Amino acid sequence: MSHILIVEDELKLARLQADYLQNAGFGTDCLSNGLEVLPWLKANHTDLILLDLMLPGRDGLDICRELRSFSAVPIIMVTARIEEIDRLLGLELGADDYICKPFSPREMVARVKAVLRRLQTQTVDAAVGALKLKLDPHSFRVSAEGREAELTLVEFQLLQVLYQQPGRIFSRSKLMDLIYQDQRIVSDRTIDSHIKKLRKKLADILPGQELVHSVYGAGYRYDPQDKVGD
Ligand code: CA
Repeated sequence: MSHILIVEDELKLARLQADYLQNAGFGTDCLSNGLEVLPWLKANHTDLILLDLMLPGRDGLDICRELRSFSAVPIIMVTARIEEIDRLLGLELGADDYICKPFSPREMVARVKAVLRRLQTQTVDAAVGALKLKLDPHSFRVSAEGREAELTLVEFQLLQVLYQQPGRIFSRSKLMDLIYQDQRIVSDRTIDSHIKKLRKKLADILPGQELVHSVYGAGYRYDPQDKVGD
């Protein structure tokens, strides 16, 4: 049975959330003050947090930020304003999904299940694909299984960004943001051409393995398990 931590200061809503989640087979605990969240998480286990944004004591943003410095537990952020979601996305807090109030409890349960399912798939992939790359930021070398390749600075940075978050899709423009100080000097095609060279070098040290995948219309992601073209 998976456990969900509900952080919500509107007690009626918290009770409703708990009822629906329990009916769906989850165990739950509820906290209503922001200051209680991190201490609770350090002492207890949960599989997912439904985290309200506006809380007494400490707000959800602040909690999310600090939490991500020591835990990857899935977070669904709950906000009272739909306009807020764009701003939250821009902050890259590391939340896994966002729900806006008022929400239907059924929708909430569906989102919880979807996030858990997505993460379980990723965990299985990561466990099966135990392939570890060694990235040396001083020499821009990547090595695996006793072979190594020398990368350019840009290739190295691209690999580093993708490798650190396996399964996550990065758009070309996001990659450009992360890598180039001044975006005006590069185009989407530049990223494609660096990725192409990076893939070739990775294929030289790990023949037959596709690590950096292009996702049609979206961008790129690192995934040691996925089949080509998935
Ligand atoms: Ca609130």
